[in-house]
Amino acid sequence: MDEIIYRIKSAGIVGAGGAGFPTYFKLESAKGKVDTYIINAAECEPLLKVDQQILKVYTEEILSAAKKVGDYLGVKKIVIGIKEKYKDAIEVLEKSIKQYNNIELYLLENFYPAGDEFTLINEVTGRIIPEGGLPVNVGCVVNNVVTLLNIYNAIEKNISVITRPVSIVGEVKDPKTLIVPVGTIIKDLIKLCGGTTVEHFAIIDGGPMMGKVVCEDDVVTKRTSGILVLPLEHPVVIMKTVSEHQYLYQIKSACEQCQDCTEICPRYLLGHEFECHKIQRSVSYQIDEFLTQAFLCCECGLCDWVCPMYLLPRKTNQLVKQILIKKGIKNSHNKKPDNVRATKEYRKVPVERLISRFNLTEYLSKEAPLELDVKEFSVVKIPLVQHIGAKPVSVVKVGDEVKKNDLISVIDDYKLGTNHHASIDGKIILVNDEHIVISKN
Ligand code: SF4
Ligand code: SF4
Repeated sequence: MDEIIYRIKSAGIVGAGGAGFPTYFKLESAKGKVDTYIINAAECEPLLKVDQQILKVYTEEILSAAKKVGDYLGVKKIVIGIKEKYKDAIEVLEKSIKQYNNIELYLLENFYPAGDEFTLINEVTGRIIPEGGLPVNVGCVVNNVVTLLNIYNAIEKNISVITRPVSIVGEVKDPKTLIVPVGTIIKDLIKLCGGTTVEHFAIIDGGPMMGKVVCEDDVVTKRTSGILVLPLEHPVVIMKTVSEHQYLYQIKSACEQCQDCTEICPRYLLGHEFECHKIQRSVSYQIDEFLTQAFLCCECGLCDWVCPMYLLPRKTNQLVKQILIKKGIKNSHNKKPDNVRATKEYRKVPVERLISRFNLTEYLSKEAPLELDVKEFSVVKIPLVQHIGAKPVSVVKVGDEVKKNDLISVIDDYKLGTNHHASIDGKIILVNDEHIVISKN
C-alpha cells in the first residue's frame, strides 16, 4: 500500500461532505484511471458556512494536500469548484494557487445542488456520469474541502480525524462555526452558542435540504457539517418529520402528474432516464413499472421544493429505494447520456429562491464566524458507524485511559470501512455496539 493511502486509511478519513465514503478506497481505486481531481468547495446547502471559511484560513494546507493527492492519482489537472459568491475565499485562493502549475479555480453560480458530484463534474468538465455511475467512470475524483484538510493533518502531522468544523445556525442565540471533537453531544454544542431562542425546537444534522432530524443527545460525526435549529412548527421540520402513511396518502390522493418534479430534477437534466413523476404514478397505482428508477435519485429534495401540491416525492423515492434493496433488487440503470437536456441551463435553482420558499430568509443575514481554537468538552460519544461500510471493532474497554488520537476502534483489513480515534483525553466509560464514550473525569 502506498504511504499516502496507508496514512489516510490509518487516520480514519471519510468523505466529510457527504455519505462518508472511506477516502483511502476512493483514491486507491481511482489511481491511474483519472485525469482530473476536483476539490468540492461549492457548499450549496443554504445557511451552512464551513467550507468557505475553512478554505480561507487553511488555504496552504488544503492546496498542499490537493497537490499530493493529485500526484498520487496521476491527474493532469486539479480544479477547485467554488461558488463565485465566496469572494473572500476566492481572493486568497487566487494568490496561493500561483505556486502550483496544475491547480485552477472553477467559479460556480449560486445554484442548488452545485455541490452534487454529478452536477459539479458536469459543470467543471462537461462530462456526464452514467446512470448509477461514479466520478471515476468519467476520469474524475472529487473530495470535499474538509476531507482535504483531514488528509493534510494525516500525512503531515500524523493526526487522525478527531475534530470536525461545524456551523451551528438557525434559532441559536449566537450562531457560530466551531471546531469540536468528533463525538461532541449536540446539546453541549448548542449551549456554546448561547442556547436556543425558541422553547420548542427541532435539530437538523446538516442543511435544510438534505439534513436529517436528530435529537439533543445525538452527536457530531465525521460527516456533520451543520447543526440547524428550527422552531418545531417550521415548514422544513414538518416536511422532514411527516409520517410514511401521510406522505404516501398525499401522493396517492393529490399528485396531478404535472411533471414539475421531473423537469427540475438535476439527474433528469443531466440526461438520465429518470422521471420522478412516473415513480409517483407507479406508487399511486401500485404498479412496479418505473420503480427501479428510484435508484437514480440523489435525494437532493428539489422536487419537494417545486411540487405545486406541496407533496414530498423525494420521500417516496427514498422509501421505494429501501423496499427494493430489502427485496434484493439492485440498480439496473446504467445508460450513458450523450448530452444534457436542453433545459438544464434554465432550470438551475438559485439558492435565494430555496431560502425564501422554505421560510429561511430570517436566518440568512446571521453570520456564523469560525472560531479556530478546538472546543473542549468533558464527555464525547463516538459512534462506531459514521461512514459507509462495515462497523469497526472496539479495541478499548471500560476503564482504559486514552489520549487524543489513540486508536479506539479498528476495521479489518479486508473490509471496507474505517478506524476511529479518541477525540479527547480521558477514560473509557462505555463501550457498546453503537458507541464508545470517553469522559475526562
Ligand atoms: S410535482 Fe408533485 S404533483 Fe407534480 S408530478 Fe411531481 S409529485 Fe406529482
Ligand atoms: S430528490 Fe427529487 S429532484 Fe432530487 S434527484 Fe431525487 S427526484 Fe430528482
